[in-house]
Amino acid sequence: MNSPMRVLEIDLDAVAANLATMRSRSGGAKVMGVVKADAYGHGLIEVARRLEAESVDFLGVADIAEALELRAAGIGTSILAWLHAPHETFESAISAEIDLGVATTAQLEAIASAAAELGKTARVHLKVDTGLSRNGAHLRDWPELVADAHELAVLGRIQVVALFSHLSSTSTEDDLAQIERFNQAVDVARAAGLHFEIRHMMASDGALKYAQAHFEMIRIGLALYGLSPFTDRKAEEFGLVPAMTAKSFVVQVKRAEAGEGVSYGYLHRTVESTNLALVPVGYAEGLPRAASGKAYVQVAGQTHLIQSRVAMDQFVIDVGQQSVEIGDEVVLFGDPSKGQISVDDLAAAADTINYEIVTRMGGRFVREFFGSATPGGAHELPEPGVAF
Ligand SMILES: *Cc1c(COP(=O)(O)O)cnc(C)c1O
Repeated sequence: MNSPMRVLEIDLDAVAANLATMRSRSGGAKVMGVVKADAYGHGLIEVARRLEAESVDFLGVADIAEALELRAAGIGTSILAWLHAPHETFESAISAEIDLGVATTAQLEAIASAAAELGKTARVHLKVDTGLSRNGAHLRDWPELVADAHELAVLGRIQVVALFSHLSSTSTEDDLAQIERFNQAVDVARAAGLHFEIRHMMASDGALKYAQAHFEMIRIGLALYGLSPFTDRKAEEFGLVPAMTAKSFVVQVKRAEAGEGVSYGYLHRTVESTNLALVPVGYAEGLPRAASGKAYVQVAGQTHLIQSRVAMDQFVIDVGQQSVEIGDEVVLFGDPSKGQISVDDLAAAADTINYEIVTRMGGRFVREFFGSATPGGAHELPEPGVAF
């Protein structure tokens, strides 16, 4: 088999190191490793296996389907799933011992009846909306949800493992107001006689910003992948190491004359006789079309603007008089401490955030994993280069 022409290198040791870094900052709170959306584009199963090997306390996903995929791969760590389909019955989730985020009494009833049917006790985390206006019970509906949960807990249908909420990250003032509302919601639940061991509210940004609000667990996604949740602070400042490097290779080199139009719409025209290098990565791979004319990449170690239009499968770099050969490495982004372009640079060029860049990397990229799925193991997983 030919070696792949588009590679996402995933450094599992970096993920493990970032987990250790966040643990050292958690003040003793448990850590949930958030692996939703294919571990933010890094590979759900491989990342989850490594986090499990590092004894992460919980894994977090949005959909039950993602949690079931983890169980099917043999992951035994506690998993929380919090975003449910309209007519979810919860049976497969409860059978697979998946913790369920609950936002409404209707969900709670469905979970309780599925649990009764299965003769099991469902593990739930009640979610209160403290001001994001996304999922979670409105504060107005919270007392009813809590009262229902108490009743069902007494009947043994459910066990309330945790109460949780999520910040809007709008401003410090807004965040602190949400934390205050969360504390009040916790009081309401306690007053209703509810027993639970865990409160969790902070994602990466809150965990790094509000040490006073770690409660018993923090839910960490982005920071595990070595990226900063803040646009004005670099990951390096927190000791986080980027886990993804996006690479490709020059597949054609062409000498062009002055005045030739390059790629769709002639966003770029050559100004002199020059070398054009063709790179087989397009918006199908998650390289934003919006990055055309704005983002930089490195071709054989030299930094160049992507002057022309990014197409579905490919883009062209005018490398000037740099002599470039077929097979030369092209780095789209990686670890800035190694002199590579950062995900943040690409995100800024495409007018988006680092979360979106890594999560959407895919298409015909092939992932290659470095570092082992288990600590102290071999350097590569048994099946490197798993396509997706
Ligand atoms: C995605 C998500 C997280 C993780 O957020 P990061 O900013 O990536 O750490 C935590 N909690 C909830 C509810 C989420 O949706």
